[in-house]
Amino acid sequence: MVQEWDVIIVGGGIGGLSCAHFLRRAGFKIRVLERSPGLNEVGAGLQLAPNAQAAFKEMKLLDDLLPLGWPMHKVELRSTRSGLLATMEAGAEPLLAIHRAQLQKLLARDLGSEILQFGVNITAMREEGDRVQVTLQNGETLTGKLLIGADGLRSQVRSQFFPPVTFRYSGTSSYRGIAQAPGLLKDPHVGAEIWGPGCRFGYSHITSAEIYWYLTFDSPPQEQRTPAACHAHALQLMESFPEQKPIVERTNVAHLIHTDISDIKPTANWVRGRVALMGDAAHATTPNLGQGAAQAIEDAWALGLTLQKFDAEPIALEAYLAVREDKALWIVRQSWSFQSICHLKKPWQQSLRDFCVKHVPAGLQKASFARMYKPEVGLSHP
Ligand SMILES: Cc1cc2nc3c(=O)[nH]c(=O)nc-3n(C[C@H](O)[C@H](O)[C@H](O)COP(=O)(O)OP(=O)(O)OC[C@H]3O[C@@H](n4cnc5c(N)ncnc54)[C@H](O)[C@@H]3O)c2cc1C
Repeated sequence: MVQEWDVIIVGGGIGGLSCAHFLRRAGFKIRVLERSPGLNEVGAGLQLAPNAQAAFKEMKLLDDLLPLGWPMHKVELRSTRSGLLATMEAGAEPLLAIHRAQLQKLLARDLGSEILQFGVNITAMREEGDRVQVTLQNGETLTGKLLIGADGLRSQVRSQFFPPVTFRYSGTSSYRGIAQAPGLLKDPHVGAEIWGPGCRFGYSHITSAEIYWYLTFDSPPQEQRTPAACHAHALQLMESFPEQKPIVERTNVAHLIHTDISDIKPTANWVRGRVALMGDAAHATTPNLGQGAAQAIEDAWALGLTLQKFDAEPIALEAYLAVREDKALWIVRQSWSFQSICHLKKPWQQSLRDFCVKHVPAGLQKASFARMYKPEVGLSHP
């Protein structure tokens, strides 16, 4: 059986689901094909910056989103060597810390099974004339005017339609977890990132009782460890952050996530004919700025606007690339260069870095945040 759609989206992560919302609002007939069998209940936290929250406002989901997360009024940057380096005070829109599963559940909530299909295995994709065709393992074939690859870092859509990219391993790996720790922090609305020797620890509440944390450390890639071994290693690394060690101690070991940190070397090869990439599939970034999901959501917003203007035609995808390329790749570059200063080991390097960070001109810092937090989605959006 062949089914006809305006847009087929491969990948039902944060980017793909947001894209479904924007395109549905613009009146398109869409289908999201997600490989996993259902929504994942496990996962870590995420910080949603004001640019991402602006997109939720546009999707008319902000009022539902805010009670699911935890506002952060202040984020401190510290180092184990020099103490407080900088403070980011929230303006009118605080960062929202939220469990990733809650975010995905909200985005999936009212899409319905006629839009969002789980447990999908794609066996073939091709562009033919003015249509794209996607064949599934169950024999179904879907035809669409456009195909969007929102299928993450190791995108199948990218492998099929685009030249190979360069994956860059950052030299660091990460553990992420959620601790049951009500009352542990003096002010639950203040989060922090602390730079230690060869490692870094960050945390923030995501609910009144739960603290999301991450720990990044120098490591060769693809080291396999059991959850218990990850926890033991994390506790060992926390010797550098003794005050915060109870957070890691109070973590459910079974849900600890171990991820190597990689990105895609910046490339603007995201659009070809009737196929486009978005989110991590197009411009995966290291998580140093907490902007990966936010950029995927901005992509979705931009696609909604360009398709609304140009219809489901290749010209809309070209317009989308023109709108998004500069900012998304700027984030990848900024984040990559930030990486090199977080894990310094030599005391003199740490002291010099800490001095420089403390003395970054306020205007420069402000301009950088202003660019990061302003949605770059083009067309009618100011
Ligand atoms: C340690 C860490 C911390 C982070 N912290 C933050 C943060 O605080 N704030 C922030 O904004 N970002 C953060 N990010 C980045 C953020 O997680 C990603 O940028 C974001 O999830 C990208 O969304 P996406 O939808 O493009 O891709 P993904 O989230 O990877 O989603 C891709 C989806 O596609 C599906 N899929 C894959 N292949 C196929 C296929 N062949 N067929 C069908 N479906 C497929 C997958 O199952 C998945 O559901 C962090 C990332 C890491 C690693």
